[in-house]
Amino acid sequence: AKHQSVALIIGVTGIVGNSLAEILPLSDTPGGPWKVYGVARRPRPAWNDDNPTNYIRCDVSDADDVQEKLGSLTDITHVFYVTWASLSTEAENCEVNGRMLSNVLDVVIPNCPGLKHISLQTGRKHYFGPVESFGKIAIHDPPFDESLPRLDHINFYYTLEDILFAVVGKKEGLTWSVHRPGTIFGFSPYSLMNLVGTLCVYAAICKHEGMPLRFPGSKSAWDGYSDCSDADLIAEHHIWAAVDPYAKNEAFNVSNGDVFKWKSFWKVLAEQFDVEYAEFQEGQKLKLQEVMKDKGSVWDQIVRDNGLTPTKLEDVGNWWFSDLVLSSEGLLDTMNKSKEHGFLGFRNSKNSFVSWIDKVKAYKIVP
Ligand code: NDP
Repeated sequence: AKHQSVALIIGVTGIVGNSLAEILPLSDTPGGPWKVYGVARRPRPAWNDDNPTNYIRCDVSDADDVQEKLGSLTDITHVFYVTWASLSTEAENCEVNGRMLSNVLDVVIPNCPGLKHISLQTGRKHYFGPVESFGKIAIHDPPFDESLPRLDHINFYYTLEDILFAVVGKKEGLTWSVHRPGTIFGFSPYSLMNLVGTLCVYAAICKHEGMPLRFPGSKSAWDGYSDCSDADLIAEHHIWAAVDPYAKNEAFNVSNGDVFKWKSFWKVLAEQFDVEYAEFQEGQKLKLQEVMKDKGSVWDQIVRDNGLTPTKLEDVGNWWFSDLVLSSEGLLDTMNKSKEHGFLGFRNSKNSFVSWIDKVKAYKIVP
């Protein structure tokens, strides 16, 4: 079959990569029919297997591996860059993540004459800085919009943008877009930051141990407004920017377009796992990184007892990330720029929360 567009998804088993891999091949997806190549390091997992994509195992931090595995691809029209590496300092994040993106673009751009667009995903830390800068630098006042200047601290998102801007400038007609989600609600047992999956695993462990579902976060996160970015919505946003001329060469926030409070979503989570809901106790300070640190064998037991898809607790429980997200009320963004440029997509965050919980259960990651 002759394809109109050919996608290369870097990070195809990630929280947005998996959504892109599901949505791009559909017959009614804009810009299609799409042929899809998807890259990740680990073998293709069963939960990614239904998607009609060409799965390529490649470590993009290794230039030789990229040359070997991606060097023969000549038909790519669109790159969707939805991956990252987490190092211990932001200087290392800049170095390693920058090298990963460069490795891919250095091979794809010269080999693919039909390459039209590169879609890069970064995130809302563009506006409030990397974790190591928290409390040390002045940040912008939310709600964040895309016109705000960069902060005075290194940030691997800035490194990635600068690499992108430099390469697209060298090829006539090649366009780019940058996508900045907040906390992502989606599905991927291989993600480094999957809040919904992590909370499902926590709820399943509470249920198994007969413990009430206590909120592992702060009073301000419990009572204040938060928001999130649905992974399918982000995929739609990437695809919109890839095909719509009004979205070219711009950076965009991407979030659901509503707000919620964790105290209400906490009831939803408790109901979904039939576990006792606990009200927030004044002064309560619970960190999942602490309470979950010795639960590896409990998790193995839950997986065995319920015939679940085999997973390791350290892959499916991103405790540090949940502790971070639930430590404060949301730092909100605005979707005005996307809307003004023609993207009117949105999600109802409560429905989004429930549907991703359903998916974690349906793929037997949790009971
Ligand atoms: P994930 O962590 O969900 O997925 C990463 C994907 O990349 C996986 O498929 C992984 O598979 C693959 N991968 C990782 N390292 C390599 C490598 N060296 N070579 C090839 N493939 C690799 O990614 P996200 O979607 O979360 O992250 C993309 C961007 O979105 C990041 O900049 C992140 O900061 C940002 N973001 C994420 C948020 C979230 O809630 N998740 C919130 C806001 C922004 P494998 O390990 O098998 O290689």
